[in-house]
Amino acid sequence: MKTPYKYISFISPVYRNIKSTALSILYRGKNVTCPLCNQSFSNWIGERDLGSCPQCGSAARHRLLYLYLQQNSSLFTTSHTILHFAPEKCWQNRLKKMDNLKYITADLSAPEADLKIDITDISFDSESFDVVICSHVLEHIDDDNKAIGELFRVLKHNGVAYIQVPYNSSKLTDEDPSANPQERKKRFGQSDHVRLYGTDFLQRLESPGFKVTQERHAVKLDSKDREQFGVWDDVIFKCIK
Ligand SMILES: [Zn+2]
Repeated sequence: MKTPYKYISFISPVYRNIKSTALSILYRGKNVTCPLCNQSFSNWIGERDLGSCPQCGSAARHRLLYLYLQQNSSLFTTSHTILHFAPEKCWQNRLKKMDNLKYITADLSAPEADLKIDITDISFDSESFDVVICSHVLEHIDDDNKAIGELFRVLKHNGVAYIQVPYNSSKLTDEDPSANPQERKKRFGQSDHVRLYGTDFLQRLESPGFKVTQERHAVKLDSKDREQFGVWDDVIFKCIK
């Protein structure tokens, strides 16, 4: 079977820069502001209130986590060793430049990640990291309990994992790794998801020993800021080892 898209390491960043410059001009304005690239625009791409950033491509969940970390962590001021799974370009652009961070990115297949790593078998010693960022990864993983156990293992004592997943706070988790792509899309919202997390997600996170809090940062912002930054009441699971 032919590969529909070939990643070319030089061409891809050039194309991305041209595209983001064109979109920034097309969406110029002051109505919304992306905290990750610190640029303002007329509106977001796609969903007008919660879509993606014309400049860096951030989605609402990236902007929410960034605002939360800015106001509730020392990530931007003191030394940290970070492991970031499935790193989006908007995060890499921001965190790679920060001198206080040793920032390592990992993915099973993305060519731009620093390391090719299976989240269920992380090739680092125990207690290697101060922080793990894992956003919208676990819903893709058949054995998510093993992945959560690995996140716990590689964190130092008192280290923190910031985890985001598609989450329904009014149901239990619905999962079936054997479901076909059409059924997955219908039940879990995307053809490559194996579950939609529900209220028992908390117990899964606690199982290896994490102390978990559900951070609802958007409700702490006033409505003007929520609109300006394009965020909604999504949950960030803060997991302390
Ligand atoms: Zn941006």
